[in-house]
Amino acid sequence: MRVRSGGHDYEGLSYSSTLGPFILLDLFNLRSIGIDVTSNTAWVQSGATLGELYHAISEKAGPNVAFPAGVCPTVGIGGHLSGGVLGTLVMAFRLAADQVTLVQVPPNVMVFSASRTLNQGATKLVTKWQNVAYDLDGRLFIRIVLVPDEDEKGNKTVKATFNSLFLGSKAELLPLMGVSFPELGLREEDCAEMSWIKSVLYFLGYLSGGKNESVLTERGVADPFITPFKAKSDFVRNLVSEQG
Ligand SMILES: Cc1cc2nc3c(=O)[nH]c(=O)nc-3n(C[C@H](O)[C@H](O)[C@H](O)COP(=O)(O)OP(=O)(O)OC[C@H]3O[C@@H](n4cnc5c(N)ncnc54)[C@H](O)[C@@H]3O)c2cc1C
Repeated sequence: MRVRSGGHDYEGLSYSSTLGPFILLDLFNLRSIGIDVTSNTAWVQSGATLGELYHAISEKAGPNVAFPAGVCPTVGIGGHLSGGVLGTLVMAFRLAADQVTLVQVPPNVMVFSASRTLNQGATKLVTKWQNVAYDLDGRLFIRIVLVPDEDEKGNKTVKATFNSLFLGSKAELLPLMGVSFPELGLREEDCAEMSWIKSVLYFLGYLSGGKNESVLTERGVADPFITPFKAKSDFVRNLVSEQG
């Protein structure tokens, strides 16, 4: 028997088997969500998605409440929570599986996005990031997305995009970055202030597409990862050298 919640297992464990015929117990429609703001808890059925949970929190608990789980809105709660769960609030609240309670966030958080190509020093920046990102101010999360790109002359390059969420103000963030990670050269215009639920859309790239929070409750349609792909998730145990 296979059990499926959101169906986002990287190895397809929830919907395939090499052992011959099997039964699939699909929890897709078990998706109710109850938010209790007085106890800061939520009862969430296994088949609900992260997007549905985030949307329900924002609707019922307001801008000061969040849940520190993953980025992709169509991941299912059932498989997600049992697997650890890393997201933009991991520095402040650790893994969702450790936390499993709603958390308090400021009514507005800061986000920034800064991209650098190889010519703009991306390699050294990624090396520096490895050395500082885990040990920054506990309110500051910075991730890197590395993608192949072309530079201004049309030559192949790699673009490193530094995406961040900070549980504080711009006035606090800029000096903090100036001390901890000055090489990135973060500017005021790279930063934006918004509610936590908007930051969920920001990390998905939905804000630039003019979408609002209700997109988080759409299943499949809204998924930026709708194009089939194969992925693997692991932890880097040793720093990747600059040469690497
Ligand atoms: C596009 C994408 C983005 C992702 N982003 C993040 C991220 O930002 N952060 C992060 O931490 N992870 C992320 N992940 C990984 C994701 O959290 C895991 O793959 C998770 O296990 C998926 O849960 P699911 O319910 O959607 O998957 P499913 O495939 O339904 O389930 C995954 C596993 O859990 C089992 N399972 C599901 N429900 C139950 C249940 N109720 N009881 C017992 N077992 C159950 C299944 O049998 C299967 O083995 C991402 C994955 C994808 C594909």
